[in-house]
Amino acid sequence: MIRTLLIANRGEIACRVARTARAMGMRTVAVFSEADADAVHVRACDEAWPIGPAPATESYLRADVILDVARRAKADAVHPGYGFLSENAGFARSCEEAGIVFVGPPSSAIDAMGSKAGAKALMAAAGVPLVPGYHGEDQSPECLAEEARKIGFPVLLKASAGGGGKGMRVVAAESELAAGIEGAAREGMASFGDGRLIVEKYLQRPRHVEVQVFADRHGNTLHLFERDCSAQRRHQKILEEAPAPGLDPALRQAMGEAAVAAARAVGYVGAGTVEFILDESGSFHFMEMNTRLQVEHPVTELITGLDLVDWQLRVAAGEPLPLRQGDLVIRGHAAEVRLYAEDPARDFLPQTGPLIRLRFPEGEGIRVDSGVEEGGAVTVHYDPMIAKIIAHGRDRTEALARLAMALGRVEVVGVTTNAGFLKRLVEHPEVVAGAIDTGFVGREIGTLAPSGESVPADILALAGLAEMLTLDAGAKAAAARTGDPRSPWARADGWRLNDTAHHDLVFMDGAAEVPVRMTFEGAAWTAAIGDSRMCLTGRLGADGALESRIDGVRRAATIVRDGDRRSVFTDGRGWSVRLHDPLAEIGDAAEESGRLVAPMPAKVVRVAVEVGAVVARGTLLMLLEAMKMEHSITAPVDGVVERIAVEPGDLVEEGAELVVFATAAAEAVAS
Ligand code: ADP
Repeated sequence: MIRTLLIANRGEIACRVARTARAMGMRTVAVFSEADADAVHVRACDEAWPIGPAPATESYLRADVILDVARRAKADAVHPGYGFLSENAGFARSCEEAGIVFVGPPSSAIDAMGSKAGAKALMAAAGVPLVPGYHGEDQSPECLAEEARKIGFPVLLKASAGGGGKGMRVVAAESELAAGIEGAAREGMASFGDGRLIVEKYLQRPRHVEVQVFADRHGNTLHLFERDCSAQRRHQKILEEAPAPGLDPALRQAMGEAAVAAARAVGYVGAGTVEFILDESGSFHFMEMNTRLQVEHPVTELITGLDLVDWQLRVAAGEPLPLRQGDLVIRGHAAEVRLYAEDPARDFLPQTGPLIRLRFPEGEGIRVDSGVEEGGAVTVHYDPMIAKIIAHGRDRTEALARLAMALGRVEVVGVTTNAGFLKRLVEHPEVVAGAIDTGFVGREIGTLAPSGESVPADILALAGLAEMLTLDAGAKAAAARTGDPRSPWARADGWRLNDTAHHDLVFMDGAAEVPVRMTFEGAAWTAAIGDSRMCLTGRLGADGALESRIDGVRRAATIVRDGDRRSVFTDGRGWSVRLHDPLAEIGDAAEESGRLVAPMPAKVVRVAVEVGAVVARGTLLMLLEAMKMEHSITAPVDGVVERIAVEPGDLVEEGAELVVFATAAAEAVAS
């Protein structure tokens, strides 16, 4: 029996595990880094212990410190969540040796599945179908290149120790091979401390279909159906659904049986996921096994009506699985998306910042798993995921419709998110038709993440109306204080002696200035924006709620003010503009074309040029690493490198100067 459970993780998964453990009557113990002292997961548990500084390597990845806390807090078991130490065989082994139950498989099973190479060898022996490829010992670039040629291009290079799409490179032709091998090995080394690679045939237009398995210590192993995670960007999952759309029941059964065979082959215990790639002909091939709970486990919970953490904790306590294969049925359909602090219009650059407003939708069939709250922040230290938005419906159409509606009601102010991108994805006709492959998002990125979209006039009109109503409320309050509510100075309707009653506002939509003239006429405002005129009335309630009519049509919105920023949420979308204050002169002349600054807090991995180098537009200048992903900094124009302000290994803040170069135009004048 588990009385005290230590949760060796943070964020939404720590909150998720705590919820079930507490429901099962366990005492829960959280661990937290210095950055997480006030985090939601800390408050979700009965007790919380500090484990070190913010960087995960000094806190959440410190197996020794966490184990010491487990002993001192008298924990019977440790739940590792996902990420961090969840697939660390050494940590699982230390728990086993300390007599503390590791909520997961035996360390031997993690070891067996820990390397993609080793796992493929085992699976071949167990008769599980594989993607054709090379997973041998010889790691010389010559050998890898030779194997790639044998397989035939395109090939996919994968870090054997990899996960989360890191350390993967598609190589389309011989000419890209050497750079691909170097890049994948470097990323594998940086992310996992292991640069070994495997080579696979790169399948065209495949689907990613994975099977949830569960095993107990009494020899029972079963599967909880599949999830389709084909909506991916750069091999990272974006949308996950269960069951897989259109999967034939015979294929479902065959994949389920293969997954169970894979789990049995390594003596698996607990929750695990066997990932398959399904090719166009309908054949499936083993990719890897994740020996932990997955980020996307909620969709399986919703279609089976089960709590997978409850099952994990029961299995960890030595109980047999509560159901048999034949007892399991699929109920309806579920879909999940990952809401991230990132900017789709700027190549999905991770965002950090305060969560000034954070509101999630509620409603029939909607579930939100989050580990942050309004007033908190997304920091550079951890993954920028804000929440998982999950919807369940009687069928796929209903589940996707609910998910789209829920996404339209998310309100985040303070960081840019991918909510709009996710909504467009979920509503895309091909997604709705259930016919997408893993390349779909990449091919459609232009429509899914359009850049340079301008804020529509009606949104600016609403923002203008909210300004007027706020001014009006302020003026009325001031008049009430002076005791003369009839004073013309207490009117905010733009009333002026000898002038028409108007206010001129200037909103900044990105870099574009948009003048909005608000004129008060009788009982309503007219907003003049370019050639359009809108008649507006409205009332501003608590918490930014704006009840308005635009040309007679009722329109509900939420307006959030934060400094000069105005965020408008309406009709299932959010927009953000800045109110230009003409008094605050913007001295942004520093943004010259020849100066490149860090787009986010990051680590400099490599500097690819030297001072004096003549570079063409698009030339790689340096590689940065942020959030464990590499980002290339390229020359925005032709020029000569004048100064390099950083060295490999440097940690840079957002906005820090990286490279200064004279542009070709300036050079031409000088010479
Ligand atoms: P990771 O462990 O980093 O998640 P996986 O091996 O699970 O890596 O692969 C991640 C994704 O990459 C898969 O979901 C799939 O979309 C794509 N992928 C993997 N192997 C292949 C392949 N051989 N051909 C085409 N796409 C692949």
